[in-house]
Amino acid sequence: MNYDVIVVGAGYAGSTAARVLAEKGNHVLILEKRSHIGGNAYDYIDENHVRRHEYGPHLFHTNSGKAVEFLSRFTEWYPYEHRVLGYIRGKLVPIPFNLTSIEKIFEKEKADHLKQVLIDTYGMEKKVPILELRENEDPTIKELAEFIFENVFKYYTMKQWGYTVEEIDPAVTGRVPVHISYDDRYFQDRFQQMPAEGFTPIFEKMLDHENIEVRLNVNVLDLVQVDPENNTITFEGKPFAGKLIYTGIVDELFGYCLGELPYRSLYFDVQTHTGVFQPVCTVNYPTPEEVHPYTRITEYRHMMASCDSDTTTIAVEYPYAYDKDAEKGNIPYYPVFTGDSEAAYQAYVKLAEKVDNLYLLGRLAEYRYYNMDAIVERAVTFAEEL
Ligand code: UDP
Repeated sequence: MNYDVIVVGAGYAGSTAARVLAEKGNHVLILEKRSHIGGNAYDYIDENHVRRHEYGPHLFHTNSGKAVEFLSRFTEWYPYEHRVLGYIRGKLVPIPFNLTSIEKIFEKEKADHLKQVLIDTYGMEKKVPILELRENEDPTIKELAEFIFENVFKYYTMKQWGYTVEEIDPAVTGRVPVHISYDDRYFQDRFQQMPAEGFTPIFEKMLDHENIEVRLNVNVLDLVQVDPENNTITFEGKPFAGKLIYTGIVDELFGYCLGELPYRSLYFDVQTHTGVFQPVCTVNYPTPEEVHPYTRITEYRHMMASCDSDTTTIAVEYPYAYDKDAEKGNIPYYPVFTGDSEAAYQAYVKLAEKVDNLYLLGRLAEYRYYNMDAIVERAVTFAEEL
């Protein structure tokens, strides 16, 4: 078979691009190192009759009509609005930190004052990143900002990234801004919904196309080699003149010739409990590592349309530095968003640009913090234009 396109990775980036290109008449081969498709969105019904997300919670939310339109070709949906509580000073309060969180933590007179000052300064329904709030000179806001920083962001970020809030790109903590509102949903996007049968069937349907072939359990680098000096790609030992869309980690593709890029990994301690474990889907633990060594606990039954199981599945989330050889922490989940890592990544991009028929796509290959909707939209546009 002569393939027009080889896609490495069967997650959102690879599967979406493959589908769009297949529909344009290209013969597409997908190479996937795991034993399943769907990337980190892979889910299934587990022994507790709960839809478990093998690689941690995935919540679909978007303002992008394009992502919804594309994915709706492969699934029905049910409405789901994600709620998160944070364990702060012994209480569970809404995250993102909002006006209700203030009421739950401070006594009434103080809470009323804090809320009024925030509303007068920023207005209702405004979102203020913590780093921006900390810059406010008003003593009341400053004091509150320090409280939120200390109790929501400081330790969680340290645990999650191994860096301080100041060392990490401000856009990272900006994903969860302080919300001057009583709206306690984690996201405010127009579309908040989950696929009726889970995420995995989306990928099954997406890849079910006569022009798409999927090979699982593949050691990709045994089959595909990229040579930037000679501007060539080889596949199964022969020159490959088609397009290679690579969605994995880019330093690995180039044999780590410019050093290893940093990624953050996670380990999920999955447990079964009786009944319901916690009041909402996710509880964050923004406490110092000595108090809680994990960042959050997710109970999957809460994100299902309905669940009457007597037992429940939870995943306790422990961040790790990525190390491909480690027992825990051997999956790259996130690029690490510091100035140094971005510079190191850009050196690999320069290398990749030497190969005319190589394209980097997705969270890992582009070293960007894409959410599911963002990478679907990006991959559709990318493949349409290719
Ligand atoms: N964050 C935090 N405390 C929280 C929630 C989030 O410090 O209670 C920060 C932390 O740095 C985290 C970032 O905000 O990595 C983004 O959070 P998000 O929930 O979007 O992370 P993801 O679900 O992508 O891991």
